[in-house]
Amino acid sequence: MSARILRGRVLSFVREPQGADDHDAYVYYEDGAVTIADGRIVAVGVFDAAAIGDVVDHRPHLILPGFIDLHLHYVQAQIIASYAGSLLEWLNNYTFIEEQKFGQQGHAGAIASAFYDELIRNGTTTAVAYCSSHPSSVDAFFAEAERRNMLMVGGKVMMDRNAPEALCDSAQSSYDDSRTLIDRWHGRGRGLYAISPRFAITSTPEQLAAAQALAQEFPDCYVQTHLSENDDEISFSMQALSRCQGLYRYLRGL
Ligand SMILES: [Zn+2]
Repeated sequence: MSARILRGRVLSFVREPQGADDHDAYVYYEDGAVTIADGRIVAVGVFDAAAIGDVVDHRPHLILPGFIDLHLHYVQAQIIASYAGSLLEWLNNYTFIEEQKFGQQGHAGAIASAFYDELIRNGTTTAVAYCSSHPSSVDAFFAEAERRNMLMVGGKVMMDRNAPEALCDSAQSSYDDSRTLIDRWHGRGRGLYAISPRFAITSTPEQLAAAQALAQEFPDCYVQTHLSENDDEISFSMQALSRCQGLYRYLRGL
C-alpha cells in the first residue's frame, strides 16, 4: 500500500510545555508533511516534493495530533448545553433522567456510535469517560471504540445513594460488575478501564471502600471521580460525612 502524505502547517508536541516561551516543547513546520503507511504515522517533517505517495494538500490549514479529553460523560451526549443553575439541579433535572435510558436495549450502542462520530468530528481521538451505572453501557462504549481502533479509557459509574432507584447499584454489585468489566475490557485492544465512583454524594462509605479494594486489586487501572465542584455540593457532601462518619466536626476544626 502506498503512503499517504498529508501536507499543511504541522504542529506537534514532544513534551508538556513549561510556559509560553518553551519553544523546545514542540515542533512546527510551516510547509509540513505527515506520512501515513498501513494506517500508522511513519514520518513527520518538512514537506518533500520528491517524496513518493498520494499527497492530500490541506494548506493553509493546521494539522495537529488528536486531542485527548480527560473528562467527559458519553452517556450525557444528548443533554449537552441543557440549562441548569447548578450542578445538583443539572443532575436531578437532566442527567439522572437521561442516564436511566441506558437500561433500555439498544440505546447504549446507538449513543456510543453517535458519540464517537462527534468526538472525531471535533478532532478528539482519545477520551477518559464515565459510562452510566449499567454494565451494558460500558460494553457499548468499549465495543464501539474497538471497532474504530480508538484508545479510550472509561468505566461503569458506581452510585448507591441519592439518585433514582433505577440508577443505583449497591456496594457489592458495583464491585462485582466493575470487576467483570475490568476482566472483559481492561487491556483488550486499546481499551483501558477507569474505576469510577461518581462522587461522595452518590457513594456510601461502603461503596468507596469497594472502589478502593478494586484500585488495590487492579493497580494498573485508572480511577476517576468528582471533587468539590460548587458550594452546594461541598455542603451536601459534608453533611453526608457528618451522618456517616462523624468527620464533619473534625474537618471544620482543621
Ligand atoms: Zn463529570
